[in-house]
Amino acid sequence: MQIDTDILILGSGAAGLCAALHLAKTHRVAVLCKSALYEGSTRYAQGGIAAVLSMEDSVQAHVRDTMIAGCGVNDEAVVRFTVEQGPAAIEWLIDQGVPFTKEHTADGKIRYHLAREGGHSHRRIIHSDDATGESVVQTLMHKVQAQPNITIYEYHLGIDLIRDAQRCLGCYVYNQREKRVDVFASKAVLLATGGASRAYLYTTNPAVSSGDGIAMARRAGCQIRDMEFNQFHPTCLYHPQAGSFLLTEALRGEGAYLRLPDGTRFMAQFDERAELAPRDIVARAIDHEMKRLGLDCVYLDISHRPKTFIVEHFPNVYQRCLKYGFDMATEPVPVVPAAHYTCGGVVVDQCAQTSLPGLYAAGEVSCTGLHGANRMASNSLLECLVYAKAAAEAMVQHTARVEAPKVLTAWDESWVEDFDEAVLVSQNWDEIRRCMWSYVGIVRSNKRLQRAKARIELLKSEINEFYAHFRVTRDLIELRNLIVVADLIVDAAIARKESIGLHYNVDYPSEV
Ligand SMILES: Cc1cc2nc3c(=O)[nH]c(=O)nc-3n(C[C@H](O)[C@H](O)[C@H](O)COP(=O)(O)OP(=O)(O)OC[C@H]3O[C@@H](n4cnc5c(N)ncnc54)[C@H](O)[C@@H]3O)c2cc1C
Repeated sequence: MQIDTDILILGSGAAGLCAALHLAKTHRVAVLCKSALYEGSTRYAQGGIAAVLSMEDSVQAHVRDTMIAGCGVNDEAVVRFTVEQGPAAIEWLIDQGVPFTKEHTADGKIRYHLAREGGHSHRRIIHSDDATGESVVQTLMHKVQAQPNITIYEYHLGIDLIRDAQRCLGCYVYNQREKRVDVFASKAVLLATGGASRAYLYTTNPAVSSGDGIAMARRAGCQIRDMEFNQFHPTCLYHPQAGSFLLTEALRGEGAYLRLPDGTRFMAQFDERAELAPRDIVARAIDHEMKRLGLDCVYLDISHRPKTFIVEHFPNVYQRCLKYGFDMATEPVPVVPAAHYTCGGVVVDQCAQTSLPGLYAAGEVSCTGLHGANRMASNSLLECLVYAKAAAEAMVQHTARVEAPKVLTAWDESWVEDFDEAVLVSQNWDEIRRCMWSYVGIVRSNKRLQRAKARIELLKSEINEFYAHFRVTRDLIELRNLIVVADLIVDAAIARKESIGLHYNVDYPSEV
């Protein structure tokens, strides 16, 4: 079946929903997501969104902090562009109805509460308590559902982009409920598929973050960059039942300490900013201490702050920890690092245009140049908002110039059969993620990277064989993407002969 639309958006996180809303007045938009509409990294964001919103702060300071966190290899023009757009992007969210947290000032006025996080020289994180992502997604989701021009396709999984010699024409999409592959044809396609942190065994990301957009763009011939810069969040709750529950950076911003099991603080030995150092330094320090002392975890301790403050500022985190048996107000909480954010991705310009005409990318799937070698906390939602708007504007221009695609070649399944050994797929999933965690994780070495490369090559040929012979399933499609992403990360890590930002190789210890 072929479904025609003006604009096809793959992904319903902050980037996809924002772009859809910017386009809905003038275009027919199809929003696809491979799970439920609300599922994606966006809804798990706790800390908030960075923007220059107070008189004490400045664009210059936000640009400087972002460049320092990114080790100076960010694109400064992009950083400035993104930071300058920040206040308007937040105003747009407020207009949509996102309920950001407010506070009373000493002179009796009410204003938005701004938090401070690692790497930021000022308070500039606007938030909805400690569940900002949930507020953003809920608000935008209801808006999108009310728009007659937007059609939502849940449980629809993009497999491969369709292109001719000149431009992108649409996408082959697996309809998971009907178990069939449809053709979506459109004048422009936006990839808003999120990151690739599921390539690692331990991650804070939901199941949808398997790097599909990056892999699809790669197969369509687009340029991909900076895949070696994988951010590991230092503080994921260490508890067998907690899954990937993250303890927000804002806890350290509000004074939480990191401690060894005997209560000793250790961050000051690694960085003069101690617990407020950027997260790569904190994650590496934790990894170092865990390996040095053979620990399963370290501890995050905010129990020196009043209980009322903790409960008021971190209601969601406080309750979740309590559910797992830890009272943050009276005791330290066990934490470990986990893969959190993909700085690299599909290369785009300031209009979110990829190297393939008609194909745009926004949000974590993209690489704009904002983050450089390391993303500063809360800059990613800002990037989603700014680039979703830029993409929408560019797609309006593009769709005015091009014809709608005609009938596209249907998906051909005549030469494949049903897969009867699902265990092989789950085994390969597990192997990739363990290999990436062990050899391409927080601390890398040439030997480990070569070992990973050899394993990935073997897995790649096995997976390509599965794909060539068997009918697609969600697991198989994601596995095929995961191996592309793992390969890109390993190649980028091997190619970089230095340690910088999130890429730390013990054989090039140029940076601590
Ligand atoms: C626990 C956690 C906390 C975070 N906290 C913060 C924070 O406080 N501040 C901040 O700035 N950032 C934070 N981040 C990062 C930030 O949330 C993400 O970078 C951002 O939300 C990504 O948004 P997105 O729209 O690009 O993708 P996502 O929100 O991940 O959405 C991806 C969408 O793409 C869809 N999709 C994926 N593949 C396909 C496919 N093949 N076909 C169709 N659809 C597909 C998914 O179904 C989903 O709808 C956090 C991340 C996590 C995991």
